[in-house]
Amino acid sequence: MARFETEVAGTRLVLVQGDITQQEVEAIVNAANPDLTPGGGVSGAIHRAGGPAVTAAAARIRQERGPLPTGAAVITPGGNLPARYVIHTVGPVWRGGTHHEPELLAQAYRSCLSLAVQQGLRTLAFPSISTGAYGYPIEQAAEVALRTVRDFLRENPGQLEEVRFVLFSAADFRAYRAAWARVQGV
Ligand code: ADP
Repeated sequence: MARFETEVAGTRLVLVQGDITQQEVEAIVNAANPDLTPGGGVSGAIHRAGGPAVTAAAARIRQERGPLPTGAAVITPGGNLPARYVIHTVGPVWRGGTHHEPELLAQAYRSCLSLAVQQGLRTLAFPSISTGAYGYPIEQAAEVALRTVRDFLRENPGQLEEVRFVLFSAADFRAYRAAWARVQGV
């Protein structure tokens, strides 16, 4: 499986092709819907693998707080996952790129990173938020994702040991690898 590793301000930044439900990190991120229901895509896979502990905790948060706004994040236990926690965030639906999609996507990544640091977590894995059912073009989404993570790590040096992007397909991995080359040049 394809893998790429670099370092940003003392944190390992890893791109890997794979299944996020199998990652042995402290928290994995879910590309959730505002109702925090299982749904399909990566969210369906995470709820399925995590089991009722994940789905029930998510439902409780939904009940107490209402729908999760785009760009916000909440944390639940990981249930049967190797990861101890799931951080649920809602990415933007792509509406042509003129409806604040880049800012909202960056906010989703930042909310997850901040929540992880707040909770004292050291290792975190992201899927490619918004690039499935939500339709965000992956070349653009990858650039936003990687730039946002890089900037956060520079602003919060030494807080996290590893941030990992888990890309489901070889094409997605290549898109993130190419985006990192572009981001690095800036
Ligand atoms: P969104 O609604 O935010 O677009 P999706 O779940 O539809 O979320 O897709 C987000 C990305 O997650 C897509 O690139 C999809 O291929 C990927 N994906 C689906 N299942 C998994 C999985 N088990 N591990 C990692 N990534 C996954």
